[in-house]
Amino acid sequence: SAKPASQLLSPHNVRDLLDSIEAFLFDCDGVIWKGDKLIDGVPETLDLLRSKGKKLVFVTNNSTKSRRQYAKKFQSLGISVNENEIFSSSFAAAMFLKVNSFPSEKKVYVIGGEGILEELQLAGFTGLGGPEDGKKIAEWKSDCLFEHDKSVGAVVVGLDPYINYYKLQYGTLCIRENPGCLFIATNRDAVGHMTDLQEWPGAGCMVAAICGSTQKEPVVVGKPSTFMMEFLLQKFDVPCSKMCMVGDRLDTDILFGQNSGCKTLLVFSGVTTESILQDPSNNIQPDYFTDKISDILKSLEH
Ligand code: PLP
Ligand code: CA
Repeated sequence: SAKPASQLLSPHNVRDLLDSIEAFLFDCDGVIWKGDKLIDGVPETLDLLRSKGKKLVFVTNNSTKSRRQYAKKFQSLGISVNENEIFSSSFAAAMFLKVNSFPSEKKVYVIGGEGILEELQLAGFTGLGGPEDGKKIAEWKSDCLFEHDKSVGAVVVGLDPYINYYKLQYGTLCIRENPGCLFIATNRDAVGHMTDLQEWPGAGCMVAAICGSTQKEPVVVGKPSTFMMEFLLQKFDVPCSKMCMVGDRLDTDILFGQNSGCKTLLVFSGVTTESILQDPSNNIQPDYFTDKISDILKSLEH
């Protein structure tokens, strides 16, 4: 059954949201910042929501940083956020291993950044690979096998700007030679903002490489998978019906909110334009849409 078409966020809708919503879940890139540039009016809007007693949660698919590193990024942009209000796909990967009782004596091979390694370590797991393997060269010689650690029980793939043939061979061998090896993707975003000016290939590209060589599909822990919602619900005592997910992407953020039963608000400060939303080929309709989150603030001035 098709959802009703989205509504342009009106001052009346804003008052409804402020009455009915207890927790606002914010996607980060395209909502709070673009690359490393703060989006207009964000600190004031978050302050207003906090002053009204709303819980704020930040949910990002970008796995390159740990929650600790995200807290620092928020701070450097002049926004005070507690580490436990942040849910990153790097943290989600570590939590997936935890809830699946991944044995701590097994190792985790990482195609991705420092953020994943840090979250693995904080959760008590041993990560291999990551940036350290960025300069390694895969060599193929007759009578010489490419060696890999046989105690690897999971491969985690996220955005890796230093992906190379060595890492692809390592991750592929772990998965192909051990049928029990887990294959976890932090997220499958097609592109991401490495800077505010330009989009670059996202983790979906690295994940697709390992899908190609292993012919296996990963477990995705980032949006739109609702895996992170389980942790949100443990930390914040709010039912999904009293949450509003705010994001700039239809196929990750808005779908994540809808898969969990949250209200959804799409903003045009990131990758989605109004013409993409209104295109007949798009079948994901948020409850509301607006230009940017500071429109919430503006609506209350009228
Ligand atoms: N992955 C990467 C590598 C990115 O650069 C970005 C955005 O910059 C994302 C994912 C999406 O992040 P978010 O979920 O905060 O929009
Ligand atoms: Ca986003």
